[in-house]
Amino acid sequence: MAVGGEGTIPAYIIPDMCSGCGQCAPSCPHKAISVCAGQAVVDPGLCDECEACVFACINGAVTMK
Ligand code: SF4
Ligand code: SF4
Repeated sequence: MAVGGEGTIPAYIIPDMCSGCGQCAPSCPHKAISVCAGQAVVDPGLCDECEACVFACINGAVTMK
């Protein structure tokens, strides 16, 4: 669940920390994550801030800013 706050802030992939392993993609219930050229990308229009991908990433590359 997203925590408080006004407005919506989608998940953000920290490029330098993402290995492109793709492990986060299947964790997203909205299919908002795709891996392209060795880098995960979040579609902000699909992300509902559930944070599942934050916990799925073994590299800690996903953050909710
Ligand atoms: S926060 Fe949830 S909806 Fe957004 S990209 Fe991550 S898993 Fe998908
Ligand atoms: S799980 Fe983490 S390191 Fe792997 S593709 Fe997703 S954001 Fe990148």
